[in-house]
Amino acid sequence: MASGSSDDSKRQRALPVPKAAVDMKTFIPDSSIASDVIASANFGDRASGREPDMILLHYTGMPDVEGAIAKLCTAGTDVSAHYIVLEDGRIVQTVPEAKRAWHAGVSVWAGEEDINSCSIGIEIINRGHDWGYPDYPLRQIAAVIALCRGIMLRRKVPGHRVLGHSDVAPARKKDPGEKFPWHSLANSGVGHWVQPAPLVRGEALKLGAISDQVTAMQTAFARYGYGIPTHGKFDGPTMEVVTAFQRHFRPERVDGIADQSTMATLHALLATLPPDAATPTVVAAT
Ligand SMILES: [Zn+2]
Repeated sequence: MASGSSDDSKRQRALPVPKAAVDMKTFIPDSSIASDVIASANFGDRASGREPDMILLHYTGMPDVEGAIAKLCTAGTDVSAHYIVLEDGRIVQTVPEAKRAWHAGVSVWAGEEDINSCSIGIEIINRGHDWGYPDYPLRQIAAVIALCRGIMLRRKVPGHRVLGHSDVAPARKKDPGEKFPWHSLANSGVGHWVQPAPLVRGEALKLGAISDQVTAMQTAFARYGYGIPTHGKFDGPTMEVVTAFQRHFRPERVDGIADQSTMATLHALLATLPPDAATPTVVAAT
């Protein structure tokens, strides 16, 4: 569908199309529910033969939608995504799914480092932690769910490979953050989710600990897919992974401490992964 039909413009704010994008060659959207195309200048080819089998969710983390769309579409910024989901639920496609968009940056999941080549990137308009971090409107989440469901069906993306940016880049990223309603997505068959185990008092592993228990904890996160050392020292990178896990799977408390609730939630997730989906891990010699 073309953007800006007269009916649409009566009901909806006009899309802020950046000047530079007007001259870009347009394309047919891959998703039937994408209402608009704003062609981004920022994309390349996927690594040879790599078909996307992951969906990576982001928030834009910018104070306004105009700036976010301009950044994701204008040549020279070196960032892009396949889709942008607006707060009113409109879905804009900016890069064809067959192409490699530039949204993940330095990332790793399940041993794979070229996340841009294996994923479809969705940017959700939200100001993010640095600008007040508002709740995600329901209609926006409904659009994200519908978009993801279509991609999962068309691309055979398994639920456990619908991830947040912070999952694949825990040292650098917080998005889409602990307010993102992963449980709502799961209720509609999007993502991998278990009811988080309740918070309880008791022993917990935290920064500075060195033990076999830490190795076992790190190995469990690595089996799920996180890029984490397995050397038995609870160091900064380990804490960043625990924090990222909590943002996604146990958002009630995000503190980087591997408490019993966090570990029980992780083990429940591992137990419900499809056969052979866990990442093989090699424990480093100590
Ligand atoms: Zn991101």
